[in-house]
Amino acid sequence: MDMFLPDYVFNRIWDISEEDIKSMGVKFLLLDVDNTLTEHNGKVPRVEALKWLKRIKEGGIDAAIVSNGRAKRVKEFAGVLGLQCEYSSRKPLRVGFKGVVERLGWPKSETAIIGDQIYTDILGGNAFGIKTILVRPIETERRLFLRIKRILEKSFLKRAKNRGVLFKS
Ligand SMILES: [Mg+2]
Repeated sequence: MDMFLPDYVFNRIWDISEEDIKSMGVKFLLLDVDNTLTEHNGKVPRVEALKWLKRIKEGGIDAAIVSNGRAKRVKEFAGVLGLQCEYSSRKPLRVGFKGVVERLGWPKSETAIIGDQIYTDILGGNAFGIKTILVRPIETERRLFLRIKRILEKSFLKRAKNRGVLFKS
């Protein structure tokens, strides 16, 4: 079940400092959109997310978007951030991660995914063989299906804590 465990856990994406990222041996970041950079279905990134991205880019870290969202929305969102993107990425399947990482020529050993969902972002990142960083969702889920998933995720978080995964939140 280790495939469900993140390597790191933070509260919000903007709580991850450039030093944190570099200490992980990471130079390239794949970013989830919904509940990571904005609320679910949000049209624009949170201001804190924009400022965070600017900071880490200035620190020499590169980033791209990997979202299961539809082309139009994801492209527009990535455009605002000035990032490359992979839309309809079918996380947790490896295909979406593979597509963008190969296109950009990033070494997997120095790449991490940051996302809020264990069953898409973390499972997919682990299956693809990159580092995985879980953040807590920006918005509490209103939809029953996602609320149930959140409850299941709690048991994995507990296990991660017992395994000594670094928590910063
Ligand atoms: Mg998400």
